[in-house]
Amino acid sequence: MNRRKCFKCSNPGLHQWRICSDGPWRWVCAECDIALNYIAARWAYGPDKAAKLLDKYKRRQREDQTT
Ligand SMILES: [Zn+2]
Repeated sequence: MNRRKCFKCSNPGLHQWRICSDGPWRWVCAECDIALNYIAARWAYGPDKAAKLLDKYKRRQREDQTT
């Protein structure tokens, strides 16, 4: 697997997302991953809970990167 590039901003890809289950998996960088997660969480839980979930998620990302 090469060309792991964020499909939105071309930063190095970190995670894969599948938009609307419509096709191949796309790479997203850490920042865009968080943005996408926020949009999804806000849609599902509302802005207050989304902010809390994202805090937790960001903390977990940082821990992943240090291991
Ligand atoms: Zn990106």
